[in-house]
Amino acid sequence: MSEPPKNVVIIGASFAGHALANALATSLPTSYRVVLVEQNDFAIHLPALVRAVVVPGSERDKLTGRLTQGTVFPPGSRHRLICPAKVLALGDGTVTLDTEFEGSKTVPFERCVVATGASQAPPLRPAPGSTLEEYNALLRTVQADMGAADAILIVGGGAVGVEVAGELSHHYPGKKVTLVHSQPRLLLTSESTPRPKAAAHDFAYAPVPEWIGESLEAQLAARGVDVALGERVVFPSGDWKEGGWDGATGKLDRAHDIPLTSGRTVRADYIFASPGNRPNSALVSAVDGEAVTGAGHVVVDAEFRVVSDDAALARVYALGDVATQAGRKTAGLAVYESRHASKVIAAHVKAAEAGRVETARGYTPIDWRSIVVPLGDGTGDAVGAGVLDFKWFGMWAAPRWIIRWFAKDYFVRNFYSLFKGRDEYR
Ligand SMILES: Cc1cc2nc3c(=O)[nH]c(=O)nc-3n(C[C@H](O)[C@H](O)[C@H](O)COP(=O)(O)OP(=O)(O)OC[C@H]3O[C@@H](n4cnc5c(N)ncnc54)[C@H](O)[C@@H]3O)c2cc1C
Repeated sequence: MSEPPKNVVIIGASFAGHALANALATSLPTSYRVVLVEQNDFAIHLPALVRAVVVPGSERDKLTGRLTQGTVFPPGSRHRLICPAKVLALGDGTVTLDTEFEGSKTVPFERCVVATGASQAPPLRPAPGSTLEEYNALLRTVQADMGAADAILIVGGGAVGVEVAGELSHHYPGKKVTLVHSQPRLLLTSESTPRPKAAAHDFAYAPVPEWIGESLEAQLAARGVDVALGERVVFPSGDWKEGGWDGATGKLDRAHDIPLTSGRTVRADYIFASPGNRPNSALVSAVDGEAVTGAGHVVVDAEFRVVSDDAALARVYALGDVATQAGRKTAGLAVYESRHASKVIAAHVKAAEAGRVETARGYTPIDWRSIVVPLGDGTGDAVGAGVLDFKWFGMWAAPRWIIRWFAKDYFVRNFYSLFKGRDEYR
């Protein structure tokens, strides 16, 4: 009787996990297979979401891809997709699922990769366990509600909040849009402010050059967007009055005067909340709390291995938004890391099979500081701002044609290249 295949379980089938599955599918020994687990029945090109929450119909423009065995892996592939399925726990050489796979909810692994990314409240990321139909319905509701609103308050002036303000002011000129940001400059976030008491591995985002935030503020202001910096929304507490704003976000029951910390109020009938995200590292912290930083990132070494003394994490790796590899956490970086991780994991597996010490060439973080923030679809004068990081040659302002190129569709046109199966995506 032939031996059962040895599993390399990858948890999460977004940019990091999906790209890693593609790379390992062709580089693992034939006695191994990839087992890719994803809780939602679809993947989403998150960069294009800022348009999909505003512009009706844009959710149809290749924004999402359905995850099935036939869309992810070519016909006859030995590799497996388990979807929709959620990993509930990491054990010593096993993962526990909320659904059965090959007759059991416990799946053994030789290696396991945590590519569980980060969380944000819907619609910014789908709720765990969402179906494509549910998520598309949510996007259509958000589009319709923002389209019908007279005055929209956006809370959070990171890249996503700024881009949503750009899309709204571009698509609905004349609609009252206010962008409230707690920091003194757009794109400056608490994550990009160095943490003086950070642990050795704690993760800090590279700051964005000041002039970019200032340029975006000036362009939004020229379109009539009210940019309120150094302000926070004051959520109601015990002194809430009947009929007043109850702290809800999204479509409000009617227009309310929303209080800010300075004492001023902003009239709004829709509130779009764009807070920062939180890494989905609970599977690892449940095994060893020391393996996760204060900010929630899984601590990894240069060979993508989780740094822990716990035996249950000895053959566990992490990458993408959930892990501490340096760099601005982006889809591009997640895919880049996955190419290196696949080489490292394949080398470890082959060394273990040959009874050799498991070592591989370590990953050198590239710490890209490039960022491009469009304000709409790239037509018109105020297209947004960006900077390109040429390392030794310095940081250069992104030319307008680059911003326009990205703004056209946020590179959604490339999304389906991740899907290596033959079946249709939808
Ligand atoms: C609105 C928005 C706009 C963005 N704009 C840009 C941009 O313009 N350019 C750019 O490069 N990047 C952008 N990003 C960032 C980029 O999308 C992320 O860096 C990238 O998605 C990270 O990929 P990831 O695979 O590490 O994690 P994620 O994309 O977060 O994916 C993690 C996956 O793991 C799954 N998962 C989690 N836990 C479990 C579990 N227990 N069991 C099974 N599955 C699980 C999740 O369902 C999810 O599919 C944006 C992000 C957002 C939210």
